[in-house]
Amino acid sequence: MSDKIQMKTPLVEMDGDEMTRIMWQMIKDILLLPYIDLKTEYYDLGLVKRNETNDQITIDAANANKKYGVAVKCATITPNAARMPEYNLKEMWKSPNGTIRAMLDGTVFRAPIIVKGITPFIPTWTKPITIARHAYGDIYKNSEMRVEADCKAELLVTDKDGNESRQLIHDFKTPGIIQGVHNVDESIASFARSCMNFALDTKQDLWFATKDTISKTYDHRFKDIFAEVYETEYKEKFEAAGIEYFYTLIDDAVARVIRSEGGYIWACKNYDGDVMSDMVATAFGSLGLMSSVLVSPDGVYEYEAAHGTVQRHYYKHLKGEKTSSNSMATIFAWTGALRKRGELDNLPELCAFADKLEKASIQTIEEGVMTGDLIPLCSLENKQKVDTETFLREIDSRLKKLL
Ligand code: NAP
Ligand code: MG
Repeated sequence: MSDKIQMKTPLVEMDGDEMTRIMWQMIKDILLLPYIDLKTEYYDLGLVKRNETNDQITIDAANANKKYGVAVKCATITPNAARMPEYNLKEMWKSPNGTIRAMLDGTVFRAPIIVKGITPFIPTWTKPITIARHAYGDIYKNSEMRVEADCKAELLVTDKDGNESRQLIHDFKTPGIIQGVHNVDESIASFARSCMNFALDTKQDLWFATKDTISKTYDHRFKDIFAEVYETEYKEKFEAAGIEYFYTLIDDAVARVIRSEGGYIWACKNYDGDVMSDMVATAFGSLGLMSSVLVSPDGVYEYEAAHGTVQRHYYKHLKGEKTSSNSMATIFAWTGALRKRGELDNLPELCAFADKLEKASIQTIEEGVMTGDLIPLCSLENKQKVDTETFLREIDSRLKKLL
């Protein structure tokens, strides 16, 4: 037997596309395979294979994720019109992330990797702010119409016996617009459970906010379901872990977030999460430092980088040019997944390896060695831009000293 770190259950490995696929292999070769007897069940979610299998590979990968509990995913192309001829596609396949999220009924948590020398635009944010976005309903599944003058618009609900209930939206004297949105209790409760599990997992407070003072039925339902799930299923666990569930009005939450030092999970309704995650990500700096994990309400995890396949760099790479692509978020996807696997399988050595690899990665940047995207954000005096592979080798030289 080798003296590499042993694993028990395999990790579900989902490979991807373009520059991130190149980085994926480099990370494995330079930072993982020399140290871990890596056990993975491999699914190639690269667009070529998805097209070849009529996207069945994505479904198989999601099922494996459900079976084993922990997956690590590389960024993948979501096809658009331009990709049809580029990859000679049979169909414009759906986003793999969308497919996996739907199959897991999961919530995406995005958290920045904090590095000294890269100061957020809000300098008081010294700890990460993790955003959880509810990914079902509201305006993303809406129904909307323009309304002519002298029209009455109503909400109409018909029950299974044909009984109708109506409510006036507006009596239009002049032309206007209306919109119908919905959500379902079950999805809101799943979202609440995912957030509360993740808060317990990461030992961070959980904040949730809506506009319940104005939306007394719709948004208030979110508030009530969160409160009920918390009271009946999580209160004792939160108290034992020394963390807090905190509800406030969305306006108040925004003000508190800006003044905060970070270090909590901010659960957002679908639209709030869409907007706020982009704001928070930008304020923390580079996409290359944003990590992401999909968590299902029953505790299945899929770790990835928040960024895409870094297409422009890939085309440079294909021309034989060196790129300076940031692998931090993809490394942290691996460490997140390995640590979780270690926790579930009771392998403290694997968890310790994940910690040390993260430490070596952060240390590399803090010592001034970084990829091009970080150079303009970094306040260090002696900073040096390195290429994609050199960055990984620099991390490895520091990792060796920690092991
Ligand atoms: P992107 O790949 O995130 O890249 C956007 C730009 O951000 C890049 O062109 C690059 O800027 C910079 N960037 C992002 N990650 C970086 C990194 N690790 N290191 C250095 N720079 C980085 O997004 P996109 O260009 O919109 O999408 C490209 C493809 O990725 C699309 O096919 C899309 O469908 C897919 N995508 C996948 C996922 C996913 O799988 N989770 C998420 C988003 C997008 P410069 O070029 O200026 O250096
Ligand atoms: Mg957005």
